[in-house]
Amino acid sequence: MCRHAAWLGAPRTLTSLIHEPDNGLLKQSYAPRLQRYGTVNADGYGMGWYDPAHPEPVRYRRAVPIWTDANLPALARIARSHCLLAAVRSATVGMPVEETATAPFADGRWLLSHNGRVARDAVSDLVGDPTGAPENAGDPEDAGGSKHVGDPESSCDSAWLAAAVFPRRRAGLPLGEALAEVVSHAGAKDPGARLNLLACDGASLAATAWGDTLFVHHDDRPCGGVLVASEPLDERPGWRAVPDRSLLLASPGGVHVQPL
Ligand code: GLN
Repeated sequence: MCRHAAWLGAPRTLTSLIHEPDNGLLKQSYAPRLQRYGTVNADGYGMGWYDPAHPEPVRYRRAVPIWTDANLPALARIARSHCLLAAVRSATVGMPVEETATAPFADGRWLLSHNGRVARDAVSDLVGDPTGAPENAGDPEDAGGSKHVGDPESSCDSAWLAAAVFPRRRAGLPLGEALAEVVSHAGAKDPGARLNLLACDGASLAATAWGDTLFVHHDDRPCGGVLVASEPLDERPGWRAVPDRSLLLASPGGVHVQPL
């Protein structure tokens, strides 16, 4: 299981998810407290955030242990946003270790991370753009290329889940509905699947608890916001466990949890 975390609220830096908290993602990469599958998260890490000057989020992913990237602390100290998402990865056996297998996956304004595992067959019928347009359409040099818009960017199961969720964005579904549809479908087809998804679109967060832990911390003061994470980032009171098989939705209006 990987570990992931996201923030929606008053602008803060990625350091607030990774380096500052006692049990931030840096610590969770080598000493997670509640991890049920795997012991360290050393197969890569990634983060995404929103800058008012750009319509799409900024994303940074590496296929190395988070503690080996000497450039990260300075970058995380200035990468600042009202909406942040970051993850550290422990690759499932058989899955490739590469940047394209590393969360966050992105499409338009959506960012997505997955804790868990799933049989790719359980989502293959949801993958792909309804138009099926070749990615290189119009490029005569590339005629016959087999890559299509919406194809998973890696053979990793998480990339397949992302490729199942993203067509729902293009079809106009809200974030939470898109996650709920994909998790319910994949969970029915693969009863052993673990499907903790965490996603954001710059204005809201959505997360599923399906087979692994998920926690939320809501500080409703004006300088506050909502933290969602695989496990609490610190010892502050107020962290709440999200029940298994539920969908969490967070927006500036508050936090809502409903059964899946
Ligand atoms: N199955 C995914 C991967 O291989 C996620 C793994 C995890 O949650 N540890 O990357």
